[in-house]
Amino acid sequence: MPYRIRAHHGMCFFFFQGKGYSGEFIENMRRMKRKLEQNPEVVLLAETDDVCARCPNNLDGVCASPEKTERYDTQVLALCGLERGARIRWEDFEALVGERILTAGRREEICGGCQWSGLCVGRV
Ligand code: SF4
Repeated sequence: MPYRIRAHHGMCFFFFQGKGYSGEFIENMRRMKRKLEQNPEVVLLAETDDVCARCPNNLDGVCASPEKTERYDTQVLALCGLERGARIRWEDFEALVGERILTAGRREEICGGCQWSGLCVGRV
């Protein structure tokens, strides 16, 4: 089974520095990041995923901010030219996010209002 990744988490992984909603969430992010570095196939979603699985804001399989997070996902997918449910190698997705969103200076228009946005600077 490919890893289930909601599309906006392509940006979150890029800037992840060991901070997050809880210790369990952070440990899961670390573990997922190590697995993704092996370039597995992932399926891109606009709903809760393998990261959300250990998030305290995951309320019975639905994010506590569903409209906002789904909007982030939809915008990332559109800018990357991908559809929900697309299967893609992680590094190919990372490259699209890097080129079309981060390097293009478009991240803040997607998730500039996120509480973590201040962490997501540099390294582009
Ligand atoms: S805040 Fe929502 S989208 Fe983000 S990891 Fe938690 S459940 Fe998933």
